[in-house]
Amino acid sequence: MKRLLLSLMALLASSAALAATPWQQIHQPIAGQPQSIGSFANGCIVGAQALPLNSPDYQVMRPDQRRYFGHPELLAFIQRLGQRAAQQQLGNVLIGDMGMAAGGRFSSGHASHQTGLDVDIWLQLPKQRWSAQQLLKPQPLDLVAADGKNIVARHWQPQVFSLIKLAAEDRDVTRIFVNPAIKQQLCREAGSDRAWLNKVRPWFAHRAHMHVRLRCPVGSSECQDQPAPPAGDGCGAELQSWFLPKQPDTIPRSKPLPPPLPASCQALLDKHLL
Ligand SMILES: [Zn+2]
Repeated sequence: MKRLLLSLMALLASSAALAATPWQQIHQPIAGQPQSIGSFANGCIVGAQALPLNSPDYQVMRPDQRRYFGHPELLAFIQRLGQRAAQQQLGNVLIGDMGMAAGGRFSSGHASHQTGLDVDIWLQLPKQRWSAQQLLKPQPLDLVAADGKNIVARHWQPQVFSLIKLAAEDRDVTRIFVNPAIKQQLCREAGSDRAWLNKVRPWFAHRAHMHVRLRCPVGSSECQDQPAPPAGDGCGAELQSWFLPKQPDTIPRSKPLPPPLPASCQALLDKHLL
């Protein structure tokens, strides 16, 4: 009996690790006035919309994963960015993960993207549109050299600089995450027009894409914004600290338990999964 229980527990644990999250079982947006609820890493969304998959101004990768839902303001931002990129002839804008139909936690990949306000946009701008096959199996272009400190010059297009700047200058964007080496390259190239760099934040990974986050939309009363980034262009000591050798962790840390869902998101799950 004990043995059976143990193997049952092991089974449960391993399937939890593969982790279908309950949010994946909600395939259509929750009807209602658009509302982003909770925080980017612990939330959900009512009234999400699907980004149109056919557009002259961008292409959506991995449509089979159905991570192309978001708040209408996120859709509007992507369309605006695509149009501006097209006007400047930057190349083909490639859209990666947004959120699921009701937001919530993905089974793999990121902890954020939960409130319909985050989108990953790749840092390559092909001249040709990609085929359906290429979109299903997209090949990322690693912009960061093996030393982690510099970009790979042959992968770096001036258009990538322009795309990140365009996104950062958008009124609805609150933060953009890129690898520290990419932020450093932007700092080097920016010249005297630097205010937009404030929103571009160094973060782990993000070597082939930028993660763009919008502010909480007006009317989403339960949406939690992050505090504003520190003042300035962020090109000084803070950025340099990313390139210092890592201090060994002296205290062994256990992973904190995920916080409870916001009550409105839990209610939504209870209603839609039974
Ligand atoms: Zn992301």
